[in-house]
Amino acid sequence: MESFSEHYESMCAAVQKHLIGIDMALIEQAVAYASDKHKDQKRKDGSPYIIHPLAVAEIVAEMGLDMDAVLGALLHDCIEDTDASHDDIAKRFGSTVAELVEGVTKLTRANFSSTEQAQMENLRKMFMAMSKDIRVVLIKIADRLHNMRTMQYQSPAKQVSKCRETMDIYAPLAHRLGMQKIKWELEDISLRYLDPEAYAQIMAYLKAHEEQDEAFMNAIQERVTTRLQKVGISNKTYGRIKHVYSIYRKMVTQNKSLSELYDLYAFRVLVDNIPNCYNVLGHIHDLFNLVPGRFKDYISTPKPNMYQSLHTTVIGTQGIPFEVQIRTWEMHETAEYGIAAHWKYKQGGEGSNEKDFEWVRRLLESQQDTDAEDYVNSLKIDMFDDEVFVFTPKGKIVSLPAGSTPIDFAYAIHSGVGNTMVGAKVMGRITTIDTPLQNGDIVEIITSKSAKGPSRDWLNICKSNQARTKIKQWFKKEKREENVAHGRSSFEAEMRRVGLPLSITIDPEVGPQLLKKLSFDNWEDMYAAIGYGGLTALKAVGRIRDDINRAIKVQTNEKVLANPVKTDPSKKNRHAVGGVIVEDMDSIMIKFAKCCTPVPGDDIIGFITKGFGVSIHRCDCPNAAHRDEPIQAARWVRVHWANQADQPFDTTLELECRTRDGLLLDVATTMTAARVRLKELNGKDLPDGKSVFTVRFEVKNVQELESIRGKLLNIRDVLSSRRGQN
Ligand code: MN
Repeated sequence: MESFSEHYESMCAAVQKHLIGIDMALIEQAVAYASDKHKDQKRKDGSPYIIHPLAVAEIVAEMGLDMDAVLGALLHDCIEDTDASHDDIAKRFGSTVAELVEGVTKLTRANFSSTEQAQMENLRKMFMAMSKDIRVVLIKIADRLHNMRTMQYQSPAKQVSKCRETMDIYAPLAHRLGMQKIKWELEDISLRYLDPEAYAQIMAYLKAHEEQDEAFMNAIQERVTTRLQKVGISNKTYGRIKHVYSIYRKMVTQNKSLSELYDLYAFRVLVDNIPNCYNVLGHIHDLFNLVPGRFKDYISTPKPNMYQSLHTTVIGTQGIPFEVQIRTWEMHETAEYGIAAHWKYKQGGEGSNEKDFEWVRRLLESQQDTDAEDYVNSLKIDMFDDEVFVFTPKGKIVSLPAGSTPIDFAYAIHSGVGNTMVGAKVMGRITTIDTPLQNGDIVEIITSKSAKGPSRDWLNICKSNQARTKIKQWFKKEKREENVAHGRSSFEAEMRRVGLPLSITIDPEVGPQLLKKLSFDNWEDMYAAIGYGGLTALKAVGRIRDDINRAIKVQTNEKVLANPVKTDPSKKNRHAVGGVIVEDMDSIMIKFAKCCTPVPGDDIIGFITKGFGVSIHRCDCPNAAHRDEPIQAARWVRVHWANQADQPFDTTLELECRTRDGLLLDVATTMTAARVRLKELNGKDLPDGKSVFTVRFEVKNVQELESIRGKLLNIRDVLSSRRGQN
């Protein structure tokens, strides 16, 4: 059993050694708070729980992190394991410390184990994305390091799962953050549980060769220091055996037995400045034979994790090769503690957030290493805001654009899942399918064989292109007919809105041109595309609008010139526009005159206007009374109703009435009772106790119009009616 005071004292010593000008009173306060909160808990080995946070804080202090991080480490398990709250911690130790504890808690709660190798990068990304503050990651790494150091108290199953997680997540992260020392320790402990046999074998080998190794390393060290002292370069030179996991990996990758591995030794020469690094290199190469092709200059071109050193491999006495790393003390600090080392420098000088980001940015920008891209991926804490990582119920990670919903998730799994989705559960709770997902959410999609397939609304809800594409594909395939109908009606509505004739699409000359402009082979395909959302009606019409107007202009001019009023009744044109056939004129724009609002059944005649095709009047309209006068004759053309015209037509009646209360309501009621689509109803009082009501509504033909007119005239106080309006 380990004792509180032992851990407490060594933690305080580490804080005092690595953090300058620290307020120990606050540390004591945090220790007291955490001790109190954890007082009823025990570690697996039976020692008081507080030993763990103390040890983590000590590691964090050794990393050289700041006061907030040390406090965060002391309190890191308080929210998760005790009744301490974020607010309480914020009140006592500040909001930054509370945020750090909260961040660590989130990571503790998330499950970062995965059986799939392909998922590892996503796991690491999610880990970073969930952290937001790099100090959270560092505290969590320290937490894991201490848990690894005390792994012997865990059950064998837990040992294996924790060690695997360490190899998958924590060791690679430590590496990317440049923390070699911690990475090695994590790897060595993991190996001990993941491949105990190999671990034992290597350890036994190293133990058996300990004396021999030591003698060898001492001899080399002696030779180097003597030489450097002679030339006046102050230095610290020492040899070490490479760490166990790196030896293990060499055995596996090079498929060699231990006795066949030679380069187990590494030497370090630490000096005061960069010029001396290169001076030392010269002396090393003078003392020993170098192995060609092994020299690397990471001083002039640092590794992406800011690692700097000169590396060379030379051959020692007995023909044994060994590596020599030459670096300054500052480079050494960075190599051991990586990103954490930078807090250390900060404490000495002026430190600012600007600098924090500078460090990270430099990390991101350097591209010399092959795994530079991995760095970029794993270090972008804030830059992960555009992604969200969630789990399937089986623990598979799915990465989606930020703001994604269960719909996106379902389609990311499989289009079959998306197309049969009827609901979703997030963290075990039923949620709406438009709920934005959060990092670490476990998402379960509820499907049903009788599902009707995606809804068009989903296209507006989903965030990922993948989901959008798959939903569109479904509509494209499953609902062709519906799409065509749906698309056609939106297209036609848009054409009407901008005042273009629908008949232009079937014009033998213009139609194909328009299709070409729209990049479709036929209109049905285009309607289908609008129907499934591949194209909007607004866009489609916008793309051909100018062409249509140009074509209409050309056609109108041609016809007016070629065919003034003399029309040949035998040459009937089959193309109806808006239910009206204009003789001898293909696809001309038409509109119905407001003065007489003709409907099918009325005798009609067309008037070629100056800018808007042909205006249709009733033959008995006062405005058409003078059509035979020479000055107008050339602009009047014969028109007639197309047979199949059963679309609704707008028409207007003016009712002359005796003014009374409730009359407007009576008119409206009559219209409703007649099942007429009423579009406008206005009343206006006249001076002599009379009123005029203007009623605009839709009818199919003149018979219907007349029947409605009869009903309106039956209303009390309605005196007379008149078609059209003034
Ligand atoms: Mn912990």
